[in-house]
Amino acid sequence: MTTTTNDTDRAEVFSRPAAQINEEGELVVRASSALGCRRSLWYSATGYQPTNPPSEESLTAMEAGNALEPVVVRAMERAGWKVDAADTDTQDPQQVAVRIGPNLLVTGHPDGTARMPLPEDEAAAEVQTLLFGDAAPAYGDEMVVEIKTRGPDAFKRWRTLGAERSHPASVAQAAFYSLGIHDDLRDAVIATMDTGSRTWDYEVIPADRLERALQDACEWLGELAVHHVQNGPDPDALPERDFSSGSWQCRSCPFLDICLPGAAEASEEPETEEKEVSDQEARDAVAAYAQAQESIREPEKAKRTALDTLKAWMRRKGDAKATVDGRTVSLVQSTRYSVNYRKLNAVLDPETRADIVTESESEYVRVT
Ligand code: SF4
Repeated sequence: MTTTTNDTDRAEVFSRPAAQINEEGELVVRASSALGCRRSLWYSATGYQPTNPPSEESLTAMEAGNALEPVVVRAMERAGWKVDAADTDTQDPQQVAVRIGPNLLVTGHPDGTARMPLPEDEAAAEVQTLLFGDAAPAYGDEMVVEIKTRGPDAFKRWRTLGAERSHPASVAQAAFYSLGIHDDLRDAVIATMDTGSRTWDYEVIPADRLERALQDACEWLGELAVHHVQNGPDPDALPERDFSSGSWQCRSCPFLDICLPGAAEASEEPETEEKEVSDQEARDAVAAYAQAQESIREPEKAKRTALDTLKAWMRRKGDAKATVDGRTVSLVQSTRYSVNYRKLNAVLDPETRADIVTESESEYVRVT
């Protein structure tokens, strides 16, 4: 958890560069950046100054997210979890360092560990164990907890697709922390709050899937480590670009202007030629939309009231169908189905899930 205090030193601890070269000449990468663009990591490690620092708005959003993270911890505790969260006031928060090669370290500050409340039947079994003399609290095993806050769309995407597909960097980060804290890979939990609705949920990533995430991240960073061995800390020996100029990774990259000069302006231009619409025409469109909304409000309300009346009448009669003044009125039964994504994500690996839960992009306009 990256937390905020008024203390400058502590803020610096958490805002350190994504990658550095330490006094021993080793490459040190932040766990949260382990799946980041390797050219960007190289810029950072070899001392380039960011050309595109985060905007004021991004910083505010980031700080708002950070401020909510202790709220997630308290919500977990109210839901029965036992959370051992990192001390947010210390200037020297617990740091883990995982060596993944002779010249490469991955470091970070874990949010803490958590133990899940056991379901009642399992807790009862634990009490039996307790009777025989073993200390057995009604909690599951200790897991690394990674706390995130996401906007409504990202939250929905995470819940539906699972963290490995929606936010693989978070899973890799949890894997490094698990290895750093426990010295082996255990299940880890990612707890996430929707910054829009202030609801939260969690996903447990089983240890075997955490291991795959760790392997992927080590493979990704391993190539950068080889680059470092071959070139030394040479700022001019740039690795290949990992992403293309239109990607979100490049658009939010602090080194965009060095890597892709002119791309920032280009990305602001519309990609395709579209019908020219003046500001006045847009204002007229909003006014027309509001007027249309207003004109259907009363008829919609009348329709709902009429349907409620007919529903009560049909229920009293006990009929599913009736004819009234030449029109057929039916009481239709429908069943809703829902998917428990938390359980689905827990039992299926990401590839199997990708066959079952698919995603597609669409575009629409919303006027509020
Ligand atoms: S602009 Fe894109 S390709 Fe270049 S360093 Fe940044 S993320 Fe990598």
